[in-house]
Amino acid sequence: MKGKTFLGAVFAILLIVGLGTDLYAQPIRVITTVPDLSDITKQIGKELVNVESLTRGVEFMHAVPVKPSFVPRLNRADILVVMGLDLEASWLPALLEAASQPKILPGQAAHIDTSVGVAVAEVPQSIDRAGGDVHPKGNPHYNLDPHNGRIMARNIAVGLSRNYPQHKAAFDKNLDAYLAELDNAIERWQTVAAPLKGVKFVGYHGDWAYFAKRFGLQQIGTIESKPGIEPTPNHLIALTQKMQQEKVQLIIYGPQSDRFPRQLASQTGARVVRLQSTAGALPDTDSYIKFIDYNVKSLLAAMQKG
Ligand SMILES: [Zn+2]
Repeated sequence: MKGKTFLGAVFAILLIVGLGTDLYAQPIRVITTVPDLSDITKQIGKELVNVESLTRGVEFMHAVPVKPSFVPRLNRADILVVMGLDLEASWLPALLEAASQPKILPGQAAHIDTSVGVAVAEVPQSIDRAGGDVHPKGNPHYNLDPHNGRIMARNIAVGLSRNYPQHKAAFDKNLDAYLAELDNAIERWQTVAAPLKGVKFVGYHGDWAYFAKRFGLQQIGTIESKPGIEPTPNHLIALTQKMQQEKVQLIIYGPQSDRFPRQLASQTGARVVRLQSTAGALPDTDSYIKFIDYNVKSLLAAMQKG
């Protein structure tokens, strides 16, 4: 009897140790669509997660060149974190179909959409996909407002806890620490970005709407005639006139060619500035906070030039 109890206890200990070792030895495999989300997931998951982003911050998010390696990476994922609002609509659904990993599909527990709870800008009255509009659910570039970074972080923490409730306390603690760090940065940006208030600009794409609203810049127009649609000559003529009338100071572009920005700059005297619409492309933008920092600093530097 005594021996049986002893053996039972040994088995129980082995089982607990074995389970515990397994849980801690295998980090949760997280795939994110953009580097912003991989950075924030690392801040919240720390040593419990192994995170990779499919894109590197150099791509135009509506036309990401898909690599064959994306499929096995998605197939092995425990969690998928996406921006949502159709930002990934042109490339992710086909990959998800090929990856055969049902638990990360939209609507499933392991599919974390960080746009939940975001006040979406520019929601169209009627959806016109036929016209090629790549923002059918409204503007999906909400990551450029750091206040939305708080929502993204919270959604990631909630999503991780939903799938791994045994680590909820750790995720919550790391979330609080990250939000405190982000809040400090937001306070700093509100102060240093004060000279950007009222600055008139033209964006290449519509990525700058949330950033502009947060920091008080005024978007006069976009080089694209519609989100995702390259300009016609007539659109550029009308835009040039508007830029001259409104005395537009800056032209902001991102991963696109600088051809149209330079052309408009030479015709209007506005300055050209290249910014990042997701984190990751440069050493100065390898975290979400550094990426917002980079954009604020680059805009201030562009304003001071000349
Ligand atoms: Zn867009």
